[in-house]
Formats: sequence, structure tokens, C-alpha cells
Amino acid sequence: MQKCLLCGGESEFIYSLDGYAIIQCKNCKTSRVQSMPNEETLNNYYNGFKYSINEENKQLILDQRFNKWLKTLKLPRNAKMLDIGGGNGYFSLAFEHFGYGKATYIDLDPKACKYVESLGINSVINDNVNNLANFTNDKFDFIYARHVIEHLTDPLPLIDSAINLLSDNGIFILQLPNGLSQERLTEKKYYNNIKTRLKKDNNFSNFKIFKIMHSNKIAADLAPPRHLWAFSSNGLKKYLSKNKNIKFKIKTYSIMDKVYSPFMGQNKYETYFIKKIFKPIKNILRFLYSIPAGKTHLVFEIKKK
Ligand SMILES: [Zn+2]
Repeated sequence: MQKCLLCGGESEFIYSLDGYAIIQCKNCKTSRVQSMPNEETLNNYYNGFKYSINEENKQLILDQRFNKWLKTLKLPRNAKMLDIGGGNGYFSLAFEHFGYGKATYIDLDPKACKYVESLGINSVINDNVNNLANFTNDKFDFIYARHVIEHLTDPLPLIDSAINLLSDNGIFILQLPNGLSQERLTEKKYYNNIKTRLKKDNNFSNFKIFKIMHSNKIAADLAPPRHLWAFSSNGLKKYLSKNKNIKFKIKTYSIMDKVYSPFMGQNKYETYFIKKIFKPIKNILRFLYSIPAGKTHLVFEIKKK
């Protein structure tokens, strides 16, 4: 069985999912697809802009709450942002729109890059961030990799590259699904979806699936060939701690967080019942489900020492 790339621990098979064998590190509880899909499978899957172009989403990101969020980063004037795997490019757009400086957007999807150029972002690079040094010697004050690394067969070089591209006082925000979070089990649709997929591959009983989902074997949001990894905060912490040039903070944010989940819960037509009774109860449930391993989004704020 493969050694864990993050902590060197032993891995074990936990179950099959969507036709892929899933293994988990016994030590840090990071899960991954055992045999990564080949390039052809991935190219077919990503052929042409998987990220929905939705002008409504663009308006959401140009909302003042993102301005407030960017302000909390305390960036220098005319800051440089690097948006890694930025999909629809709306975070680059917000960064420039609110006057923080210039964004450099880099993504593997040529169609996404074309779209982002049409938004008026000047610095758009269609490549892997590990090759960015071929294009520029710039260092960046704000690097954002938002829900990217869980998609990659080999995710750690991206983290190392981003750290190398950070300016002395810069901040690198690495955001990904929290592989051990149970918060989303409160969403019936999400839970039923996992149940169907686990049943199909493993023939587990409802009770066994319930037990798995409420344990470390949850591997939250693992969905090959899209999401190939379910990282634990402990695993990434162990990996980042090996780098003596950086310091970092680990945070988790709710699926309902208005910055880290900008497109969730946008229901303008709420009844009194939903607003005053259903939602508060749901929020208590989400809180309780977050107690074992934190909330849905795992966020590392990485700076140089
Ligand atoms: Zn591990």
C-alpha cells in the first residue's frame, strides 16, 4: 500500500467509490483515490470549462462583502494577486474591481482563460502554476488557490510553487474541502447522494453507511475523477510543518459562509417559516455536526516567517 505523501503514514483500503478504490492514511486520515485516473480520462472530463459561467455569480462576487474580506488581508497598495486555478475568474475580477491592484490568473482550461480575458483581466496564463516562473519573476502579495488541490493527481507541487511565489509579507490562502467534516451531512440531498454511490460499489447497509459517514472514514466530498483527494487538516499541517520558512493558521468555515461559499443559500424568496424557524434550527444542527472535525471549508493562511 502507498505511503501517505503528507505524513509518511501507512494507507489502508476503506471502500470503493464511483468505481475507484479509496485508500486512507491510518495516521493523518487523509483519503485519496488509490490509482489516479490517467491523463486521457482527466482531459475528457475537463474538456471545456466545467465552471459554470453565470453572470449572477459575477454580481455576487462584486458584492461589498468581498471588499471587506479583501480589506482584512491588509495588503500593500497596488498589490499583486495570483489566482491559481481560478475557474470563472470572478475573484481576480473582484480584486481589481475594488482597487487592490493587479491580478494574475492562471488556469489549465483554455476556455476558462478565454472567458477571463473577456472580463478585462490582462494577465491571463493558460498553464500549470508549476511553470509560472517561465512567464514572470514576480512575487505575489496575495495568492489564492480556492478548491483546486483536491482535483489534482499530484497536488503538493502546487503548494510548494505557491509558497515560492509569495512576497515577503504576502499571504497564501489555500482553501479546500475539509475531508473529515460532517457538517454537510445535514443536507439531505448530499447524504442521499453519498449513500447511493457507496451502496452501488460496496453493497453496504444503510446502518454501515451511517457509521462510516459519522467517522473518520467519511472522506467528505471525494468524487473521482473530479475530487481525487479528501485532505485532513492534520495531514496538510504535517506537510506544511516540514517547511521551516513559513508559518500558517488553520481555520474552517461553514458551507453557509458568505465569503468562502459565495454561491450557497441565495434564496431571495424566503417565507417567514424558513427564515425564523427552519434556518435557525438548521444552523444549530450544522454547528453540532461541525464539532467532531470542523466545518466544510478548510482554509490555510500561509505566510513567510
Ligand atoms: Zn498521512
